[in-house]
Amino acid sequence: MRIRDILRRKGDAVATVRPEATVRQLLSVLAEHNIGAVVVSPDGASIAGIASERDVVRSLHERGAALLDRPVSDIMTAEVRSCGPADKVEDLRLAMTEHRFRHVPVVEDGRLTGIVSIGDVVKSAIDELESEREHLVDYIQRAP
Ligand code: AMP
Repeated sequence: MRIRDILRRKGDAVATVRPEATVRQLLSVLAEHNIGAVVVSPDGASIAGIASERDVVRSLHERGAALLDRPVSDIMTAEVRSCGPADKVEDLRLAMTEHRFRHVPVVEDGRLTGIVSIGDVVKSAIDELESEREHLVDYIQRAP
């Protein structure tokens, strides 16, 4: 299973905010879309960083409520790990587990073309197991 198979099913929509948006605006995007992370992008195509709910919680704890009026660029992770549509889902699962993040933007020809969450990866693993199980049951039932 490849990343493009996940995107085919879930679509290529990615919520983004500009680096100068405030943390308060980031929170409203997270809440509005019911998501856990937003790609920080000046133009919707290039990636400046990623900001997740974990970044907000950690920074709020360290800096207090004044943080809400600071720019997202203050709290985002600037070194973003991305993947390509042809990458294997299995490799992404290993990278997400090893580096402990739950969101990976998909980039093709230097442009943002989707985002994969750990939930998408788990769903694809379950779907794959289920289809293997159906094939095995079918095979056993056909055996003479
Ligand atoms: P998450 O588990 O996705 O909520 O993110 C946990 C931490 O990893 C936060 O500090 C995020 O900014 C950071 N992070 C999330 N996704 C990525 C990514 N694809 N590349 C680099 N850092 C990330």
